[in-house]
Amino acid sequence: MGVIERYADRLPVGPSTPLLTLGEGWTPLVRSERLSARLGVELWFKCEFTNPTGSFKDRGMAVAVAKAIEGGAQGIVCASTGNTAASAAAYAARAGVPAVVLHPAGAIAAAKQAQARAVGARVLEVRGSFDQALRSCQELAGRSSYALVNSLNPHRIEGQKTAAFEVIEQLGRVPDVLALPYGGGGNTCAYAKGFAEEGARLRLVAAQAAERAVTLASAIRISEPAHLDEVEELVAAGRVELVTVPDDEITDAWLELASREGIFCEPSSAAGLAGLGRTELDAGSTVVCVLTGHGLKDTAAVDVLTPAATVVEPTVEAILAEVGA
Ligand SMILES: *Cc1c(COP(=O)(O)O)cnc(C)c1O
Repeated sequence: MGVIERYADRLPVGPSTPLLTLGEGWTPLVRSERLSARLGVELWFKCEFTNPTGSFKDRGMAVAVAKAIEGGAQGIVCASTGNTAASAAAYAARAGVPAVVLHPAGAIAAAKQAQARAVGARVLEVRGSFDQALRSCQELAGRSSYALVNSLNPHRIEGQKTAAFEVIEQLGRVPDVLALPYGGGGNTCAYAKGFAEEGARLRLVAAQAAERAVTLASAIRISEPAHLDEVEELVAAGRVELVTVPDDEITDAWLELASREGIFCEPSSAAGLAGLGRTELDAGSTVVCVLTGHGLKDTAAVDVLTPAATVVEPTVEAILAEVGA
């Protein structure tokens, strides 16, 4: 069951909305084995990278593409740093409509572009930034029968808010703190909305890269967050805490997740954990860290952050000399 069916009574869907799904949602909430002790809290990971195309974007995309089709759109269009494109392309293929995806030239992880190409999307590389690509998409959607499925599309936020419902249901209570990366801010707004609809009060920690334009965490490499005004309002209202993290803290958090918990996410996903390192946490509190995208999406980052494989002769002696076992 996907999010449209599971949360039909909580979403703007009706009998004429297609039940479009690739099995998104109901992702694992995994208890931390080692980092809990270091932070002095009870830490959990919401593993959004297990969604069908490997990121949380699938929740919102299922709803956005279904609503676009219900509304008579002939196709969908989006600008993307990669994961939105991979998700949009997959749900468009599933729905049987064409997808056009634009991304900044040379600034997309190869695997994400491969995902979009594999399912037959029209992939365009824009000579410009993500922000410029997004503006072109908005204009194209305004002039054509293609629906914009960036997170400016409110149905994306609706779909993504379902993750907040799941966290409460899986944990059996409202966590004290939930941390997540802040790129364009759509997901921050979605969690805030989902928790508010549940009447849940908690600390929402949104972590952005200190150097937004050039961070190694490509999924949050966005200079002008599309949801900046809403996020600022949430911060002013005391509903979101904004934390800024330098890249070395993001990559340290990424390495720690991988080597100490066995969880391989993409670097952007580790921004939430890095953000927790910069906040005061009450001892023993329940903390959920949202892991947004799969590690296999950005293996170039792995090449930068971990030692390369060593070449050895096919003998036990040579292997023992290397591993020292
Ligand atoms: C899209 C994305 C983000 C950022 O989400 P926003 O809604 O733009 O703030 C973070 N991590 C990953 C892996 C993403 O794909």
